[in-house]
Amino acid sequence: MEELSTRGLVIHETQIGEYDKILTVLTPDAGKISISGKGIKSLRSRHMAATQLFSYSHFQLRKRGNYYYIDDSDLIENFYAIRSDLLKFSLASYICDVANDVTVENEDESELLRLILNTLYAIDKSLKDLELIRGAFQLRVACICGFMPDLSGCRDCHDPNPTHATLDILDGNLICDKCRKRIDSDFIDERGDFLRPVVYLDPALRSAMQYVTLARLERFLSFAIDDDVIDPFATCCEKYLLNHIERGFYSLDFYKSIL
Ligand SMILES: [Zn+2]
Repeated sequence: MEELSTRGLVIHETQIGEYDKILTVLTPDAGKISISGKGIKSLRSRHMAATQLFSYSHFQLRKRGNYYYIDDSDLIENFYAIRSDLLKFSLASYICDVANDVTVENEDESELLRLILNTLYAIDKSLKDLELIRGAFQLRVACICGFMPDLSGCRDCHDPNPTHATLDILDGNLICDKCRKRIDSDFIDERGDFLRPVVYLDPALRSAMQYVTLARLERFLSFAIDDDVIDPFATCCEKYLLNHIERGFYSLDFYKSIL
């Protein structure tokens, strides 16, 4: 029987009957794994604290069939403030739903796990505006998934600082307004509708997004933007991520409904 000693973050839980749960846990080296937790919902279970949604814990596990089973567990961090605030809870749920969607078993997910932990820590401690955290997370997770945009300047004329530019989301390239006029038929049909997903970036938005794509992971939130840029920043980064992973999330809709 395969044994595994690992740290892991509980990113999803499925309730089974009165006392059992199936946990989806993101680990650094074994990727996303499923843990069958018999009796862990019981108040008398010694694994209860370590197996809550958003708990980051150390696990001693055995694998049988498709599931791991817990021999031992030790809570490292429970992100207490997230559990006691509905808005933070719903944002953290969305963060973990994205993590669940973009990860697989038996892959090195250490970078993504670090990003999720940094993001949950920032939400828990209110280090930044929640919408700024959401925006930066969405863009950075897209980068980790291989969709890093090139925001260094116009794709065609290489102007490093265009006043206004269009980000072609699926290509991940920036095209300045001057260059886009020459190739408008690539972007807009005769009725004026866009043929492909794009976002408009002014210099403030572009430099914030560029910072997030290039910063060291531990510093990806260490930037400031004016209050009036926070909403467009979060919206642009959301559009960027969701177009690449080709889906939406109920948890995101709920979070936005109570924002
Ligand atoms: Zn150009």
